[in-house]
Amino acid sequence: KREQAEKQLKEIKQRVQDLTSEEYKTFERFKELPLTADILRGLDRSGFHSLTEIQKLAIPECLKGNDVLAAAKTGSGKTLAFLVPVVQKLVFENWSDMDGLGALIITPTRELAVQIYEVLLKIGKYTQLSAGLVIGGKDYSFEKERVGRVNILIGTPGRLLQHMDESATLQTDNVQMLVLDEADRILDMGFKKTLDAILGQLPAGRQTLLFSATQTKSVGDLARLSMVNPKYVNGNLANG
Ligand code: ADP
Ligand code: MG
Repeated sequence: KREQAEKQLKEIKQRVQDLTSEEYKTFERFKELPLTADILRGLDRSGFHSLTEIQKLAIPECLKGNDVLAAAKTGSGKTLAFLVPVVQKLVFENWSDMDGLGALIITPTRELAVQIYEVLLKIGKYTQLSAGLVIGGKDYSFEKERVGRVNILIGTPGRLLQHMDESATLQTDNVQMLVLDEADRILDMGFKKTLDAILGQLPAGRQTLLFSATQTKSVGDLARLSMVNPKYVNGNLANG
């Protein structure tokens, strides 16, 4: 049974590699994407079936391992556009609770962090991955030891940096993926220095996904500094 599962995983990874933009632009539903059964189940049970434009364009490029700079207006479905590839990448690499921090998701406000966390819990329910939230205030903050054990950490810049500096158990050496959600707002809110300090502690070989509602110059500058050959994806333009 284990062999069969490994064979399926290999086939899906191969389908990701073979995927062309001509092909994935014709996809309408999550089911058509090369995703593992556990993620497809999580999406289905959460009521997500059809792809939004930004999800259609961004998910395949992210799955392929590219750094991606994506712009799409508020409400267009950016959360799943980065969460699906994040979860899938860690599943591809057989990450589980034991393996420590594999992905970091940074967003400007507590409210957004909570929203992302809740979507992640739903769609990741059938995987072996664990997730944590680090935001200011008391509601969702949790013990320092647990921060060092989760696979995916979602947080606001200041609080995340604080944990990275203060928590001995939080290891960022193996972070495979960094997501900057609402990058334009992160910069507008004056978090550039905090962000630079966080980026400085992450491995250079990681994959970086940068999502924003608008393509400002400062977002472009950030992309140049933090990404390698990024693919540009714009969900605001009508496309076929
Ligand atoms: P954005 O981050 O671009 O502002 P969100 O990711 O917060 O957008 O999504 C906006 C709303 O659309 C949410 O209520 C979300 O549940 C819903 N949504 C996102 N993707 C899908 C989808 N593929 N099918 C149905 N609803 C979706
Ligand atoms: Mg969003």
